[in-house]
Amino acid sequence: MHIITLSHDIYHHSPVHPALKPPEIKQKTFISRGDGYNSFILNIENHSCTHVDAPAHFLEDGKKISDYKMEELVFLNPKIIDVPKGKEELVLLDDIQKFDLDNIDALFIKTGFESFRYDNSDEYINKNPSVSSEVVDYIRRCYPKIRCLGVDIISISSSKYPEIGREAHINAFKANNNFGEPLLLLEDMKLAHIKNDRLNKVIIIPWQIIDVDSAPCTVLAEIID
Ligand SMILES: [Zn+2]
Repeated sequence: MHIITLSHDIYHHSPVHPALKPPEIKQKTFISRGDGYNSFILNIENHSCTHVDAPAHFLEDGKKISDYKMEELVFLNPKIIDVPKGKEELVLLDDIQKFDLDNIDALFIKTGFESFRYDNSDEYINKNPSVSSEVVDYIRRCYPKIRCLGVDIISISSSKYPEIGREAHINAFKANNNFGEPLLLLEDMKLAHIKNDRLNKVIIIPWQIIDVDSAPCTVLAEIID
């Protein structure tokens, strides 16, 4: 077994959703300039880079990421599924229904679009595939044990289908008697380097900031050698 991260590194001006300001990471003090120590100022929006959306992102009275207990951020039965998608395509019900998702608690959809993050970050943030609202509804209705949905794209929504994206988020978070717990959404994940059969356990470690809806996070995965 060994541990890897499913989060991208955050760096100055790393790619973020077009509605956000890119991260600014500025060095404040410099040993090389005679200061007694090195230190930095981080200016980063909470939906930047690999981050976890909690229900308060779309529901005024929804649970915030800071309301979650640590044990709710641990997933012992995660699964990655390959659903190849190109620019502005939708992940549809047909793409998902063929997979057996019984007993899964975290589902990661690997579209392969992550390669654009490195090769063409402008398309990565502006032309991303997205997830249809029916897919999210299906997951919550048919697999109430799933508590986390993750994607290797900048958001589960896209500028091509903003209404579908809004509905997909609300379907992930809203309460419904036929659903299980609301989903935590992991967006902008690093999945290209891992295969499903090696994934054993996943832990989400959000920045511990009180009262924010969502937060950047480190996602640790235990890998079977
Ligand atoms: Zn988000």
